[in-house]
Amino acid sequence: MYRKYFVWSFDDGLEQDKRIVEILKKYNMGATFNLNSGLYGEKTWEGRIGNLGMREVPYDTFDSHKRHLLKYAPHFRIPEDEVKKVYEGFEIASHTLTHQNLKKCSGEEMKRQIIDDVNNLEQLFGQKITGFAYPYGMSSEACIPVLKEAGIRYARTVGKNTDFRFPEDPYHLPMTCWHISRNVFKELERFNSAKAEEDDLLFLMFAHGYEFDFNTKESNWNKLDKICRSVAEHSDIICCSTADAFAAHKGGKA
Ligand SMILES: [Zn+2]
Repeated sequence: MYRKYFVWSFDDGLEQDKRIVEILKKYNMGATFNLNSGLYGEKTWEGRIGNLGMREVPYDTFDSHKRHLLKYAPHFRIPEDEVKKVYEGFEIASHTLTHQNLKKCSGEEMKRQIIDDVNNLEQLFGQKITGFAYPYGMSSEACIPVLKEAGIRYARTVGKNTDFRFPEDPYHLPMTCWHISRNVFKELERFNSAKAEEDDLLFLMFAHGYEFDFNTKESNWNKLDKICRSVAEHSDIICCSTADAFAAHKGGKA
């Protein structure tokens, strides 16, 4: 029998993740958090127009009393001495050491960004790191042997694939939906009614915690709660981490 998996993939290790974790626990859902081990505690402000991030401003140079053209949301990362406790019970995946566009890195730097991050995360969290998310969604073929060498089994892009199939190539794992999408509940409904008749099905939802603070029609905390509720009420959908979905999918096939 084939199964249906729903996974959340949250990037950057932000303060808002603490509130996300509470909501996930309420609905007994697993999730994957993609962290940068070289940036714990870093604070910036994310400027946006509507739901679109436009620029990141360092904390020290931001003047909250000035009038701004953009709206700003806090992009504050959780400090190193808190992360282990915050994410207990969830999958931690690598998002590079310092959030670099790997396409722009030298070979040496790319290796450092991946291998050092995986090692740091494994040491701090005491779990095997098998997942990865490309910063800015920027994947490159040169990364793949390095990811494999570091023990990574899947790597998430920000490409989109809405057919609910597990990817042929796990090192180019697309999302199914960004939570901000206007179609999110339609897509979920399509997944809820889909039958896993020929193969396992996967729905991967992508988000950054700071986006829920936008408090816009399409990006707010109520919507997060509503998404979780609408998935959790379907007992045939397994809500787990990305690594667990991949492991079970492989296991089921063997
Ligand atoms: Zn990121």
